[in-house]
Amino acid sequence: MAPRQESHDLDAFGRLTGIDPFRPGKRHGRIAIPLRGKAPIALPVTVVRRGPGPLVLFTGGNHGDEFEGPIALMKIARALEPRDLVQGGAIFMPAINPPAIAAGTRTSPLDGRNLNRSFPGCANGTPTERIAHAITTAVLPHAVALFDLHAGGRTSVMIPSVMAHVFRDAQCTRRTVDAMKAFRAPAGILIKEYETRGMIDTTAERMGLIFGCCELGGAGMVTPETVGIAETGVRNVLKHFGIMAGRPVTAPWLGRRRSRVLEALSYDCYAKASVGGIFEPFVDLEARVAKGQPIGQIHPLGTARPAPAIQHAPVAGRVFMRHAFGLIARREWVAIVARDSDR
Ligand SMILES: [Zn+2]
Repeated sequence: MAPRQESHDLDAFGRLTGIDPFRPGKRHGRIAIPLRGKAPIALPVTVVRRGPGPLVLFTGGNHGDEFEGPIALMKIARALEPRDLVQGGAIFMPAINPPAIAAGTRTSPLDGRNLNRSFPGCANGTPTERIAHAITTAVLPHAVALFDLHAGGRTSVMIPSVMAHVFRDAQCTRRTVDAMKAFRAPAGILIKEYETRGMIDTTAERMGLIFGCCELGGAGMVTPETVGIAETGVRNVLKHFGIMAGRPVTAPWLGRRRSRVLEALSYDCYAKASVGGIFEPFVDLEARVAKGQPIGQIHPLGTARPAPAIQHAPVAGRVFMRHAFGLIARREWVAIVARDSDR
């Protein structure tokens, strides 16, 4: 058997992080993105490996106002040891967009860019494009699967879930749906994205990784349950890939332990605000709604006697996501209504 790579001939991942991803053990490192005249951006990386076998990558903090991912991945990266694994291992990157996380904003304050619209990135682009490039070229090639941990951000809340995509290749869809369900979030949802350009999803899927986008809560906050769902889900995924032993566990949400599968596979599932103003929801997450049912109203600002504008369910189904922040702009999403799925 050929000797494993040693530190003198590390690949791009090893050169950037100082960690040999093939070596068993547990190592913490960082990817430094140099900035002109300032301290570099440092992306923390932890590799925990037992031996030969697949590596699954978990990323958090892609958007800086979504916090379950960073919390859960920092905790697991500290706690997990090679002896807890059966084979292979995991790469944890709890904070892939440190400037946005430090500012608590969706996009980076350094260049105004959305990291999840900047993939596959650019070696000599803006700071955000360079983060994307480093992850694409050095980290993604090592992983068989990527779970990118998001939440609803400041403006929305969602049923804690794993979003997955449907592919032309049925086997590819099956593998993805199986991994989506393995997380055991309160919902797995098959979704048609509004825009796919620049997403880490698209880059990872093109590189052959199984991909799940976790949406773990929202409104710019975390709850004990959403953090618990994130931590439990990460461990469940490691069990699914045969990296950890043991049975999967379903974490509670709203006091219930349940995983359902939903579908929002057409753009008519998205309800957009007809006017700007103050949003008043009539229904909450998980509510069953009929097509055309009033789901909220928007109180316009700036008129003496504003008549509220009723917002209607675009399709029949279950409220998967709703606007959470008090103010809403015209054309912002009021809700996503998803259908129950038998997949
Ligand atoms: Zn996000």
